[in-house]
Amino acid sequence: MERRKFLQGAAIAGAGVAITSAPAIASGKIQWKLPTSFPAKAPGVGTNVTSFAKRVEAMSGGRLSLKVYSGGELVPPFAVEDAVQKGTAEIGHSTPYYSAGKNSAIHFFSTVPFGMTATEHVAWLRHGGGQELWDEIYAERGLKGFYSGNSGTQSGGWFKKEINSVKDLSGLNMRIAGLGGEAMRKLGVNAILLPPPEIFPAFKSGAIDAAEWVGPMLDQAFGLNKITDLCYTPAFHEPGAALEIVVNKDAFNDLPKDLQAIVEEAARATSVETLAQFDYFNTQAMIKLKEKGVQFKEFPEDVITALKGATAEVMDDLAKENPQFAKVQKSYNDFLTPATEYANLFQGAIYRQRS
Ligand code: CA
Repeated sequence: MERRKFLQGAAIAGAGVAITSAPAIASGKIQWKLPTSFPAKAPGVGTNVTSFAKRVEAMSGGRLSLKVYSGGELVPPFAVEDAVQKGTAEIGHSTPYYSAGKNSAIHFFSTVPFGMTATEHVAWLRHGGGQELWDEIYAERGLKGFYSGNSGTQSGGWFKKEINSVKDLSGLNMRIAGLGGEAMRKLGVNAILLPPPEIFPAFKSGAIDAAEWVGPMLDQAFGLNKITDLCYTPAFHEPGAALEIVVNKDAFNDLPKDLQAIVEEAARATSVETLAQFDYFNTQAMIKLKEKGVQFKEFPEDVITALKGATAEVMDDLAKENPQFAKVQKSYNDFLTPATEYANLFQGAIYRQRS
């Protein structure tokens, strides 16, 4: 949306009588709407947005306050970026790949199958050119994205029946997010992306036979272990899924410089807190789930091999279709390849030695 219309829309929605945002800024109090794709009370994903909003308010001494709207409250969960682009809200919270229908290259700013872990992803964003590519692609829609945290390595999914070979996947209805869903489709899975609150009812009713959501902490909070006690780890498709704060670029540019810095630094602080929360409470939840009889299993080797093959086909097709996908993929892989060698030599070794 063009800048003037955005300002009018934002000011009318926010202040009722003002026709531009200037009076709000002059009075020293700015109120923005902040819809999230996720249930705002959910641990991890919800904390990510509510603690970000509190941090911005505290750091700005109340000059910038953000009203959080839970997933679906102001706009549908998968329409947060659209709302921020159109000016329905000035700022939003989501994960980039929920808007990958606009541009497949966006997947790299969330996560891709057999891709980077959370710490590697931040390393690429900050030092490997990832943030610059993210800025370039979001600017086309008048958006600016800030990394605000990560779920860490997710679960491969909860299944009602054991997966002993690739054949067992064929015909399954599965809730799965991201490009992993495309890879699963090539192996005969009917992959569906349901918004979070719809996962449990669909799994319970039998509409889906398998579901991945996040990891032990959130999967337990959403009751997936009440449907089956079989959980596959890790998520080949989400080795580290990133969360974002997305801002309307015109609204952001209109902020005084110190408030711009506060938005950026609050997102950064929240990112550290969020990964710590996922790592700590996923561990606690894993122990509790095991006590309740949940079995954590790895997919058999032939399934992983098939998923790798299917992923390569999906990635090749997207790179051929979309030059921006190919461009971001090259930057991503330029770091992923040596990072894999580094991880095996250093982190991989310490994981082996301490167990
Ligand atoms: Ca997931």
